[in-house]
Amino acid sequence: MLYVIATPIGNLGDITLRALETLRTVDVVLAEDTRHTLNLLRHYAIDKPLWSLHAFNEAKKEEGLINELKAGRTFALVSDAGTPGISDPGQRLIHRMRQEGLPLTTIPGPCALIAALTLSGFATDRFQFIGFLPKERRELHHALFSMLDYPATSIAYDSPHRIKKTLAHLVEIAPEARIAIAREITKRYEELVAGSPSDLLSHFQDREVKGEIVLLTEPLPAQSAWSEMTPAEHVQHLIETFQLTPQEAIKIASSLRGIPKRSLYSLRPKHHP
Ligand code: SAM
Repeated sequence: MLYVIATPIGNLGDITLRALETLRTVDVVLAEDTRHTLNLLRHYAIDKPLWSLHAFNEAKKEEGLINELKAGRTFALVSDAGTPGISDPGQRLIHRMRQEGLPLTTIPGPCALIAALTLSGFATDRFQFIGFLPKERRELHHALFSMLDYPATSIAYDSPHRIKKTLAHLVEIAPEARIAIAREITKRYEELVAGSPSDLLSHFQDREVKGEIVLLTEPLPAQSAWSEMTPAEHVQHLIETFQLTPQEAIKIASSLRGIPKRSLYSLRPKHHP
């Protein structure tokens, strides 16, 4: 049996009674970083064998764990913070367990993207989460376009070292956007700032940004209705709004609409000599 357990994202008090009870009763705790999880377990006077399971050994450990699970051993899976599998290891093992028909359950709790969304005041009825923003400039641009072009709230994780750069890109590509940054949620210096990209850039301008960051965007006013556009109109609208090349527009439209790129290539505007 595997228990997928959410742990605090900053405040050690944010753990459920069922999570603590389960951590006390399982045979082994699988942790992303055993030293980090040891602090949590010590805080609650829980003494358990800790095995490491992180992004770099998940594949290698899988076979052994599956055998242990088949033999009836019970495991708790935790990450350093929040919900395992959400920009954290775990999904691979869970997928394999589903294929093998092995029993698992979740003990839900904190998740930074949901905490940020609920704090932001942005629409919560529909949203997309795109994980960590990429580092490379071109990929980052694509990710930001796909956030701004989504017809509801978009959420991404970013790092404190890169957030000013991300904001500078947003000032350039969509100065009229309305965005929010949730920082250090549940911790001493928790803050939620919302406004235009340049408002937020000025807010962080003269200081070193520290701590953990979630970026949220609302759809641009003119943007909110791509679901009512035909694929051809959507590609054209991306080209015009963000001055994208047809290839870039096709890539974003295909990922937003969940349709293959090749189905959009025939819509590319033709060059007439
Ligand atoms: N599994 C986690 C979850 O459920 O949210 C996310 C893990 S991911 C490796 C870590 C990222 O989550 C951070 O870089 C930051 O973007 C976001 N994050 C985690 N804790 C946060 C907090 N207290 N405040 C704001 N963002 C946080």
